[in-house]
Amino acid sequence: MPAARPPLRVPDRPVEYHAMTHLLTDIPVLEGTEDLDAPKTAGPEVSGKKAVYLETYGCQMNVSDSEIVASVLRDAGFGLTHNENEADIVLLNTCAIRENAEQKVRRRLDALRADKRRNRPDLKLGVLGCMAERLRHKLLEQEKLVDLVVGPDAYRDIPRLLDESAESGQAAVNVQLSREETYADIAPVRYDSNGVSAFVSIMRGCDNMCAFCVVPFTRGRERSRPVESILGECRSLVEGGFKEVTVLGQNVNSYRYDENGTAVSFAELLYRISLISPELRIRYSTSHPKDCSDELLHVHAERPNVCNYIHLPVQHGNTDVLQRMRRTYTRDEYLALFDRARTIVPGISF
Ligand code: SF4
Repeated sequence: MPAARPPLRVPDRPVEYHAMTHLLTDIPVLEGTEDLDAPKTAGPEVSGKKAVYLETYGCQMNVSDSEIVASVLRDAGFGLTHNENEADIVLLNTCAIRENAEQKVRRRLDALRADKRRNRPDLKLGVLGCMAERLRHKLLEQEKLVDLVVGPDAYRDIPRLLDESAESGQAAVNVQLSREETYADIAPVRYDSNGVSAFVSIMRGCDNMCAFCVVPFTRGRERSRPVESILGECRSLVEGGFKEVTVLGQNVNSYRYDENGTAVSFAELLYRISLISPELRIRYSTSHPKDCSDELLHVHAERPNVCNYIHLPVQHGNTDVLQRMRRTYTRDEYLALFDRARTIVPGISF
């Protein structure tokens, strides 16, 4: 028999939400640039500032990070453009997890670099994210490919780094990893959104140290975003007409936030998000089997707007290999979890 559902701590007062007034409307669009998502990105022209073209590679976390970068740039007065030929600055938000993505970025950088040399000497090129963290020396010193290298915890510093690079004519770099940064106070710019579904990042980094993975080294230690700021963002999305959120983290179900001396678990967070609106569907990615608690499965069972779907990485079917991968569960434990999930949440899919 599966364990009985532990009680969730649901607040007995309405949750207060932070206003996020910038969410959908006031992204500066430079004159003459084509805005592919005009109804959501129309806004005042920013004169005298540079246009930034932002290209994203890799996972959903990177898409979510690019929305944070867009917000930082907008607040610093930069314009965003969907047309790379009209950009003054091209930023590639990169992935170092898959070799294929890394090679793609390298080829892209070579092409941009050639274009810069031949036609656009003033163009600034930047690499953000995991590849910046992992290959900073190569990108800057050996290959001299870029003007800007920014790691995933230093996005707030991009405007200063761009100024620094413009003034000095040298490359600017910040790849400092943080134990605290969650970008909790930054309202992401949904600059490439379909207006229906959105990513909401709730934690960053990972402490698990699986043998095959670079995430703990490129994205740093695990930290969870404050509950209130997550609920505020979800509330703003509902008010903006969004119908679905995908809650994101490198190891999303290890979310844990200390709220007035009591820990809020991922299950409880999900439960609270589900109360915001019955119209809002909730998904999450990606979860670790060791953190898939019965409490979480009961939230799936009880809340109709939490989708009955779990992305639960197998990684391997052999316990010895799993141990060498440092995955902390055995084949039998994984299969038992699978059965428990199907018992608590009939019809759940994986
Ligand atoms: S849990 Fe996921 S992100 Fe963390 S080290 Fe393992 S594979 Fe990488």
